[in-house]
Amino acid sequence: MSYVITQNCCNDASCVVVCPVGCIHPTPDEPGFGTAEMLYIDPDTCIDCGACADACPVDAILPDNKLNADDQWYRDTSAAYYQDNPQPPAWQPRTPPSVVRVSADGLRVAVVGSGAAGYYAAKELLRHPGVHVDMYERLAVPHGLIRYGVAPDHPATKSVASQFRWTPGQQKRFQLHLGVEVGAHVSHDDLLRDHHAVIYAHGAGGERRLGIPGEDLPGVVGAMSFVGWYNGHPDHVGLAPDLSGRRAVVIGNGNVALDLARILSADPDALADTDIAKPALDALRRSGIDEVVIVGRRGPEHAAFTTPELYALTRIPGLDVIVDPAEVPSGEGRKLDLLRDLAAKAPTPGNKRIVLRFNLSPAEIVGADVVTGIRLSNGELLETGLILRSIGFRGSAIDGVPFDPDTATIPTVDGRVVPGVYATGWIKRGSTGGIGTNRTCAEKTVASLLADYEAGRLTAPVRAVNRRLRLWPVRSRGA
Ligand SMILES: Cc1cc2nc3c(=O)[nH]c(=O)nc-3n(C[C@H](O)[C@H](O)[C@H](O)COP(=O)(O)OP(=O)(O)OC[C@H]3O[C@@H](n4cnc5c(N)ncnc54)[C@H](O)[C@@H]3O)c2cc1C
Ligand code: SF4
Ligand code: SF4
Repeated sequence: MSYVITQNCCNDASCVVVCPVGCIHPTPDEPGFGTAEMLYIDPDTCIDCGACADACPVDAILPDNKLNADDQWYRDTSAAYYQDNPQPPAWQPRTPPSVVRVSADGLRVAVVGSGAAGYYAAKELLRHPGVHVDMYERLAVPHGLIRYGVAPDHPATKSVASQFRWTPGQQKRFQLHLGVEVGAHVSHDDLLRDHHAVIYAHGAGGERRLGIPGEDLPGVVGAMSFVGWYNGHPDHVGLAPDLSGRRAVVIGNGNVALDLARILSADPDALADTDIAKPALDALRRSGIDEVVIVGRRGPEHAAFTTPELYALTRIPGLDVIVDPAEVPSGEGRKLDLLRDLAAKAPTPGNKRIVLRFNLSPAEIVGADVVTGIRLSNGELLETGLILRSIGFRGSAIDGVPFDPDTATIPTVDGRVVPGVYATGWIKRGSTGGIGTNRTCAEKTVASLLADYEAGRLTAPVRAVNRRLRLWPVRSRGA
């Protein structure tokens, strides 16, 4: 027997640290980690101790004798990974993480944003006794895209937030300030005055645009708005998209595009037990959409969605995933194998359909007052009343903090902007990487911050943060 990692994996590498024989790859120290679709257990080396399964925050790891028929695919995928990577770098036992000596006055850090990156940064900071963290979140509820982005039919992924709990000792050193927008209610200079350092982790809440005629017509909806609508995000609850047509078109083919297509095609009864927003569930019950076309700029071998997410889509009862055989090139790899299998399947009459199209980009959105169709780069016109734009997200600038408008990120070297100012997560890297990727990212940023503290490069705060809290009408709580 061995253990197997399945679809829910969000690459946070919690399992890597606890595995006594180092048989989970790629590790964060290995070159393939940043681009890995998920992590894989080497079945020949695994000693079945189960430590990884206990450590996994999203219950992605199962013993192979508990896999159901659908999950066998993940076992084969792991085996294929170790066939392609037969000699992973020799495993080095990990040295216990060091603890920084903090002076009696403490080290005060402000973290801006309570998404995955902000919480991983706080978690890493609170490991060091004497470090105090003030986390600022513009919304009334923490956890960013874990709460408002991850699709409601992925509850195991949402449960990753449950690891952000503190020991009683850490709890006394952590303060969460909800409803405080940095840049509006409190400035960068305020935070610097009150803390030794500020970590920006405010994500990428804006949308990249297509830049084609017709993009502003009613009926074109950004992915962030649409997922915010079905997840009950306060900025998007009133969206009311028109679902009366038979076809929706999604531009972009990353995992978010698959989420959009899956939710649009889902059986509303299957969504009813999730935390989907009620107005969205009611609208989906009335929806006429039975086909979602996903249009991707690149060819199938370079499609942005991950293979496990595509595989999961193919296991949904009552749903066909349609691929044109002529579009799938020859070549090896799990993604192409899966696409070839799909291309060989005949659609089932009466099923809903998700159609994957490749090597195409949108040329023009058509319609007088509302969207009636979209013209593609090959001249083809797809009739539709709903176009979802899912081509990536953009971070936003905060006054006084360096910002690169081209990449819509805060430029850093190892997470450091200058001593005292840092960034992590999507505002540092751009909108790529799953939840767990932000853990390694945040740990690197915190390492830079602590190195600056130990080298005496940080300026002590001039105001006590509690005094300021009495002045501002903010909600504040400890976890
Ligand atoms: C639709 C969608 C679905 C996804 N699904 C998955 C999935 O299933 N699995 C997976 O592994 N990854 C998924 N991801 C990726 C994952 O969500 C990101 O890797 C992660 O959320 C990035 O974390 P972050 O902390 O940088 O940003 P965010 O999670 O966006 O957190 C940023 C936080 O900062 C707050 N904020 C913004 N501006 C300010 C300000 N000025 N002051 C104070 N607070 C502010 C925001 O309200 C937010 O709470 C998904 C992403 C999207 C967009
Ligand atoms: S079961 Fe034990 S040996 Fe096997 S991968 Fe998990 S932690 Fe490693
Ligand atoms: S989610 Fe984390 S702990 Fe679970 S399998 Fe993936 S990398 Fe390992």
